[in-house]
Amino acid sequence: MVKKCIICQEEAVYKIKDNPDYYCQECAEENFADLSLLVRLEEEAQRLKYFLKEKMDDLLNKEEELDKRVIIKDKIQDKTQDKLQDKLQDNQLTNNNNNNNQNKNNSESNECSENNKYKEDNEDNEDENELQDY
Ligand SMILES: [Zn+2]
Repeated sequence: MVKKCIICQEEAVYKIKDNPDYYCQECAEENFADLSLLVRLEEEAQRLKYFLKEKMDDLLNKEEELDKRVIIKDKIQDKTQDKLQDKLQDNQLTNNNNNNNQNKNNSESNECSENNKYKEDNEDNEDENELQDY
């Protein structure tokens, strides 16, 4: 990725600190008496490379550490996990059953009107009819 001088579009060598303005050698000398105000792109690139390399090393180290931890955890959990999952499933099942029962009770008490009784009676009759057909 080549940066270009914002004045003459030549390949830039300098850059203003904390600013996306790039200058070639000539324009930098023309516009800035003190070139130390500018950052040499090479140095900046080197700095970036170094920074990135450190970050990568950091990440790799952390990843290795995590891998180790995961392996240890896996070993510990291997034995207990099956039991835990069984327990969890049991709990979920009983919870579901409880919920269902509660819903049933609610709907039954709510639908305690004459209409529903009539409906239920009809349904019962239909069932009987069906049975008779067979
Ligand atoms: Zn230039």
